[in-house]
Amino acid sequence: MFPIPTVMTAQEVLNKGLRRAARATGPGGRTREERAKKAGVAKLHALGDTIEHTLRSYVAAVPTLERLPDFQRELVDLLVGVGNLKHDLGAIDWCRAQVVRVCRQAQRDVGRAGTGTDGLRARKAAYGRVSSLIRQIAPNLESLAKARAKLIRVPDIDPEMPTIVVAGYPNVGKSQFVRAVSSGRPKVAPYPFTTQGLSVGHFERRYQRYLVVDTPGLLDRPMEDRNPSERQAVYALRHLADVVVFLFDPTETCGAPMEIQERLLAEVREAFPGVPILEVENKVDVQRFPGPRAKVSALTGEGCTEVVDAAVAATTSRAPAAAPPPRAG
Ligand code: GDP
Repeated sequence: MFPIPTVMTAQEVLNKGLRRAARATGPGGRTREERAKKAGVAKLHALGDTIEHTLRSYVAAVPTLERLPDFQRELVDLLVGVGNLKHDLGAIDWCRAQVVRVCRQAQRDVGRAGTGTDGLRARKAAYGRVSSLIRQIAPNLESLAKARAKLIRVPDIDPEMPTIVVAGYPNVGKSQFVRAVSSGRPKVAPYPFTTQGLSVGHFERRYQRYLVVDTPGLLDRPMEDRNPSERQAVYALRHLADVVVFLFDPTETCGAPMEIQERLLAEVREAFPGVPILEVENKVDVQRFPGPRAKVSALTGEGCTEVVDAAVAATTSRAPAAAPPPRAG
């Protein structure tokens, strides 16, 4: 999801630079002294260049971070903290610039040195400074490596694809509904913030692909029962959802009385400001209740096409997500 290359430790970065420096030789020269100087300059150049190149490849992730769509950005924030990531990348970039500066200055010093010994001394001093600069960012490299390990596990959900998020109490038939309307078998995407992962299906209408997402553990119980990261995951979902299908089980065989299900609807409405919510009663094959809500049986498929039609129509009228409610906890 987020393009950070494998992150080396500070020692590995330094060793890589020193190895290249050791191998670098100068363009030759007339005297031994001149050859030594030129080799010294080449070694410093190789050291600076290698480290700069390595660290730059990490920092290159910054513009991507700025441009991340809201959903991904919220996920990054949830997993590693956008602020922490920026702080680490900022420190790494600072180090990169310092290493370049030190190596360039040392190249000039070595070039101008009166004797081979002076040149060698200038080069060794620069090695020392570069090594202490790199050691300073060891914690940042370590935390970036950890962040990367978390971020690469996040599966890509295309935020541009119209998405229907299914909510409702456990056992009202959400996963059955996702199966009923999806063209293939829904896949479980192992999102790190829910133990159960998101179940993602898709279908096509008029050459447009739609995602339909079941979020076990997230949109199936009162907000007060969630820990802070689950709450943030709910806020992340609001960027993803173009429409919410809220499933009721009026037969109450799910175990939750309608009164409690209605309360959850009110909470979902609050958590998804500006997102249209379709209220749908499931399990109509067991019992049909009067009332204006759409009625389906996820088991037999009855009424599902109509709900999908209404959801598809609603995705085109989606308002931009409003600011999240203040975070508690
Ligand atoms: P979820 O926890 O909301 O995802 O609920 P599930 O999709 O796992 O369904 C819970 C139970 O309700 C399962 O035993 C389903 O077979 C059953 N179920 C789901 N939809 C229907 C339906 O439309 N009619 C009937 N009779 N049972 C259903």
